[in-house]
Amino acid sequence: MKMQEYIDEAEKALLHTYNRYQVVFDKGEGVYLYDIEGKKYLDFVSGIAVFALGYGNKEYNDALKAQIDRIIHTSNYYYNVPAIEAAKKLKEISGMDRVFFTNSGAEAVEGAVKAARKYAYLKDGSTDHEIIAMNHSFHGRTMGALSVTGNPHYREAFEPMIGNIRFADLNDFDSVLAQVNQKTCAIILETVQGEGGLYPADEAFLKKIRKLCDERDILMILDEIQCGMGRTGFMFAWQKYGVLPDIMTSAKALGCGVPVGAFLMTEKVGQNSLAAGDHGTTYGGNPLACTAICKVIEIFEKEKILDRVKESAAYLEEQLNKLVEEYDTIEMRRGAGLMQGLVCKEPVGGIITRAMDKGLVLINAGSNIIRFVPPLVITREHIDEMIGILRQSI
Ligand SMILES: *Cc1c(COP(=O)(O)O)cnc(C)c1O
Repeated sequence: MKMQEYIDEAEKALLHTYNRYQVVFDKGEGVYLYDIEGKKYLDFVSGIAVFALGYGNKEYNDALKAQIDRIIHTSNYYYNVPAIEAAKKLKEISGMDRVFFTNSGAEAVEGAVKAARKYAYLKDGSTDHEIIAMNHSFHGRTMGALSVTGNPHYREAFEPMIGNIRFADLNDFDSVLAQVNQKTCAIILETVQGEGGLYPADEAFLKKIRKLCDERDILMILDEIQCGMGRTGFMFAWQKYGVLPDIMTSAKALGCGVPVGAFLMTEKVGQNSLAAGDHGTTYGGNPLACTAICKVIEIFEKEKILDRVKESAAYLEEQLNKLVEEYDTIEMRRGAGLMQGLVCKEPVGGIITRAMDKGLVLINAGSNIIRFVPPLVITREHIDEMIGILRQSI
């Protein structure tokens, strides 16, 4: 079948929840994608910050193939070696103490919210605790995660949300303070907002939230689903600031393509929140998914991904800054590490479509921002190639 025929088939069968770009991808090699007609694309999206290692990493692929032949799934009623190894490694790289594996980011956020509510419930037995979330945040599409997502447009048709959520502004500590009361059990935020527009939380803000949470025994939940796993040059973005959350979430690049997520917590929360029977999942932490996590973490270390990100991110920032100076339509660059956005004065859909025609995959964040979340293994040459095509597309 030709590409257009596949697209027509898709539009007859799939629920229309995405306005998709008119391309059917077939395979990937390194930082390049190929569509089913053989056209090659430089990938600066990596499946939205997922495929950090690039496509076709042999060690990763071989490990997954071997695990498929051994066993793909058991159940959380039994132990399995990949899950044990993955939990150990995740503890090491995060400094957290307890891990719960999920299938997705949204499911990790659901678990984090439940853990926070249970923690507060165990303290005073009441069932009216509140959570503070940020405007412009994105935490996923399931009802709990949606309830803490600070974009009314995503929530409206699905009201009522879970109750007792209040919203404040990122990097405006007073706006957070204004929402705090005796019922507050958690404050949830992305260390770097992704979908909401590539806004990094600043160090002073994070430290004030940490202090407030310590003083009032409120749990600080950091959503590291997009900004974590090396994307900012740190394994988790908060590590740059030395603030330890009480609960954190991970997903996206955690499995580098195998659907997996996790929420993690300190021992204090682990011992005083979710207990046997409180939470579960059929697939979460299965041997295949956890093999992916183990391999990803191993390869990150072996290939010194964090050092490489620090270097390539500095170069990417420099090149994007040049574009900001050159083009009137570009207002500013914003972001952290290899999670960057060019904020434009007009909708960027046209630029992205033209880039696609010229063999460059980009994505937006909101209507006016071009987002850059490439595989973490990109080099200067790839950045130069991307900038060249982007110039022709603006
Ligand atoms: C993508 C994302 C989610 C949701 O993850 P899914 O795997 O799509 O459910 C949650 N939080 C942040 C910050 C994200 O970027």
